Amino acid sequence: MEIQEYIDEAERDLLHTYNRYHLVIDRGEGMNLYDIEGKRYLDFVAGIAVFALGYGVKEYNDALKEQIDKVIHTSNYYYNVPAIRAAKALKEVSGMDRVFFTNSGAEAIEGLLKTARKYGYLRDGKTDHEIIALNSSFHGRTYGALSVTGNAAYRAAFAPMIGNIRFADMNDLDSVKALVNDRTIAVLFETVQGEGGIRPANEEFIKGVRELCDENNMLMMLDEIQCGMGRTGYMFAWQKFGVKPDAMAVAKALGCGVPVGAFLMNEKTGANSLKAGDHGTTYGGNPLACAAVCKVLELFEQKDLLNHVREVTPYLEEKLEGIKDRFDFIKERRGSGLMQGLEFDRPVGPVIEKSISKGLIVINAGKNVLRFVPPLVVEKSHIDEMADILIESIQETL
Ligand SMILES: *Cc1c(COP(=O)(O)O)cnc(C)c1O
Repeated sequence: MEIQEYIDEAERDLLHTYNRYHLVIDRGEGMNLYDIEGKRYLDFVAGIAVFALGYGVKEYNDALKEQIDKVIHTSNYYYNVPAIRAAKALKEVSGMDRVFFTNSGAEAIEGLLKTARKYGYLRDGKTDHEIIALNSSFHGRTYGALSVTGNAAYRAAFAPMIGNIRFADMNDLDSVKALVNDRTIAVLFETVQGEGGIRPANEEFIKGVRELCDENNMLMMLDEIQCGMGRTGYMFAWQKFGVKPDAMAVAKALGCGVPVGAFLMNEKTGANSLKAGDHGTTYGGNPLACAAVCKVLELFEQKDLLNHVREVTPYLEEKLEGIKDRFDFIKERRGSGLMQGLEFDRPVGPVIEKSISKGLIVINAGKNVLRFVPPLVVEKSHIDEMADILIESIQETL
């Protein structure tokens, strides 16, 4: 079948919840994806910060195949070795104490919300607790996750949301303080906001929220779903700041393509929140997903990926600054590590379409921000190729 025939069929059969690009992907290798006609695309999206290792990594594929031949799924009523190993490895890289595996990022956020409410219930026996989230945040599409997502357009048609969520502003500690009262039980935010336009939290804000949570017996909960797993040159973006959250959510690159997320917490939070019977999942933490997590964490170490990210980041930043300086309608470059954005004074959709037609996959983060979240194995030569195609694409569109 031809590309257009596939697309027509997809548009007949799939619920139209995405405006998709004209691209039918067939396979991947390293930093590249190939469409069904064999055309190569340099990938600076990585399935939205998922495929950290690049495509077609033999050890990863072999580990999954081996697990498939053993057993794919059991049940959380029994123990399985991959889950035990994955939890241990995740504790080691995060410094957290307790792990609950989910199937997605949104579910990891749901877990954090339930953790916060239960913590509050045990704190003072009430169920009227408030959670502070941030404007221009993104935490997922399920009801809880959507309720803490600070983007009215995503929420409007689906009200009512879950109650008692308040919104403050990123990097504005006073706006958080102004919302704190006896009922406040948690502050939840992305260490680097992703969908909301690639906005890193600064040190003052993170440390300030930490202090505020300590003073008021509230939980500091970080969404590391996009910015975690090495993307910023730290395993988790908060590790740069010498503070620790009470609980955090991980997903996206955690399984590098196998659907798996997790929420993690320190011992204090674990001991004072969810107990047997409070939460569960059929698939979450199944042997296949956890075999992926184990292999991903192993390969991160083997490939020394954190150091690699730190090494290539300045080069990517410099290239993006150069592109920004060339065009006066590009207002700002911002980001952390291999999670970067270029903010335009206009929608970036046409630039993305042009780039894809020229063999470069990039994506937006909000209407006006071009987002760069390549596989973490990206090399300088890929950054050069990306920059060349992007400059051409901008010149030909705007
Ligand atoms: C992608 C994302 C989510 C939601 O994850 P899903 O797996 O799509 O449910 C939540 N928070 C952040 C920061 C994300 O980038």
